[in-house]
Amino acid sequence: MIDRIIFATGNEGKMKEVRMLLADLGLPVLSLKDAGIHADIVENGSTFAENAVIKATEIRKITNALVLADDSGLVIDYLGGEPGIYSARYMGEDTPYKIKNQNLIERLSGVPDEKRTARFVCAIAAAFPDGEVITTEGTVEGRIGYEERGSNGFGYDPIFYLPEYKMSTAELSPELKNEISHRGRALRLMKEELSRRIR
Ligand code: IMP
Repeated sequence: MIDRIIFATGNEGKMKEVRMLLADLGLPVLSLKDAGIHADIVENGSTFAENAVIKATEIRKITNALVLADDSGLVIDYLGGEPGIYSARYMGEDTPYKIKNQNLIERLSGVPDEKRTARFVCAIAAAFPDGEVITTEGTVEGRIGYEERGSNGFGYDPIFYLPEYKMSTAELSPELKNEISHRGRALRLMKEELSRRIR
């Protein structure tokens, strides 16, 4: 019997998005902190999906819940895919995003619009109590902006510009971000899978 979902992240920004999206599954969605779990997991996969599977299965070993984990990041074409799976660790885990964002803007200084293409990618893994593991993936395409804009969202949102909305993802309402974001897309696919399997 699956009676709760643990989403393996310590990031409150993500938890907000996840809780909103999974609400209608009707199960409590706990963060690691809510669940009282402390784990240091080495994310040594070479893709977003591999890292998500590592996190979900490691946490699954210490709890009987359905465990979801995501791995996400910003892929900038002009930088050969950087920061990619190293997005959280880019310039050091504890470096403020103001500095990371400024650094990426500087690395793209003089680069014209059409070469500033980038995407957010999110892979989500679900590890079930019976050992089964499934994954989904979502992406959103955009461009690296010339300055930080907006104060919603988190992380690299202020420099991720969506030409069709003429806004950065940090200027979108949380509802609209969930509708179009990499995590929103991956989570909706995961929700469909889960609603088939949970009942
Ligand atoms: P993870 O927690 O290992 O998945 O790392 C995600 C990294 O990518 C963090 O550094 C985030 O700042 C960045 N990232 C992922 N999704 C988003 C997003 O929706 N907005 C801004 N940054 C994001």
